[in-house]
Amino acid sequence: MQIVSTVKEVRTQVKEWRKQGLSIGFVPTMGYLHEGHASLMKRAKEECDKVVASIFVNPMQFGVNEDLDSYPRDLDADAKLCDSIGVDLIFHPEVEEMYAEGFCSFVDMNGLTKELCGKSRPIHFRGVCTVVNKLFNIVTPDKAFFGQKDAQQLAVIKRMVKDLNMDIEVIGCPIIREEDGLAKSSRNTYLNEEERKAALILSQTIRLGEQLVKDGVTNVAELVAAMKENISKEPLAKIDYVEAVSMDTIEKIEKMQGTVLVAMAVYIGKTRLIDNFIVEV
Ligand code: AMP
Repeated sequence: MQIVSTVKEVRTQVKEWRKQGLSIGFVPTMGYLHEGHASLMKRAKEECDKVVASIFVNPMQFGVNEDLDSYPRDLDADAKLCDSIGVDLIFHPEVEEMYAEGFCSFVDMNGLTKELCGKSRPIHFRGVCTVVNKLFNIVTPDKAFFGQKDAQQLAVIKRMVKDLNMDIEVIGCPIIREEDGLAKSSRNTYLNEEERKAALILSQTIRLGEQLVKDGVTNVAELVAAMKENISKEPLAKIDYVEAVSMDTIEKIEKMQGTVLVAMAVYIGKTRLIDNFIVEV
C-alpha cells in the first residue's frame, strides 16, 4: 500500500492503473478510522480493482466554533487498518496541498442543504461539496463509497454528481454500530464514560422511531414529538434537531410517505452526534 501526500503522486498512480484497464473505487474520509470506514473500503474492494482512500480533515467544512483543532488524528493506526483491508493507496494531503494560496473556487448547493445539518452548520456542505469535488477530480474514481451514517451528505453528493454530470457512481453503505447500538463515529472518542452511556439515547430513539413507523404512525409531528420526548429523558442530551424529510430532496414532510429519512443531531455534553434511519412507507 502506498501513502502519498501530493496530487501529482495520486495522478501518476491512477494513470498507470488506467493504462492497465483497472477500475478505481474511492473512499473519502477524515481519518481516525473505525469499522464504519472499514465497511466502505471492503465494499470498494469487492466492487473495484483498486481502492483509494483519502484521509483529510477538511478545514472548509468546519464552522468557527466547531472541533477542527481537536478532531482526532492517528495516521499510523489508519494506515494499518487500510493495509489490512487491502486499500491500494492512501491520499493524505496537507491543507496547503488542497487549498493553495489564492484559493477562491467553491461548489455550493441550494435545496438539499437547507434542513438538518445544513441548518445548524450553515457552511458545512459548501465545504463538503468543494472538497469532494476536488477529490473526485484528483482520484477520478469509477465508484465512490459513502456511509448512510451521514445521510444528508450522501444525498448531497448524489445530487452534485448528477447535477454536474460527474461520471462517478455514488454508492451508499449501511450504518455500522457498536454492539450496544451507538453508531460508530470518530467523534465518539470525545465522550467520557458517563457520556458514552448517555449517548445510547440516540440509537434507542432511532429504534423507537422505527417501531412507531412499523406500528403505523404516519403523522411526522407525532413521530418527532415522541422521539424528542424520549431524548429529553436523558439529562446529558441536548437536541439540535429531530426531523423527517424526503430522502431525495431533504425537504420537510408532514406525512410519512415514500422514502423518508428520519434524522437527528443531539449534543451529549459538548459532543454533537448524529444518527438516522431510512424507511420506505
Ligand atoms: P468521516 O471520516 O466521518 O468524514 O466519514 C467518512 C465516511 O465514512 C463517510 O462517508 C461516512 O458516512 C462514513 N462513515 C462514518 N461512520 C460510519 C458508520 N458508523 N457506518 C458507516 N459509514 C460510516
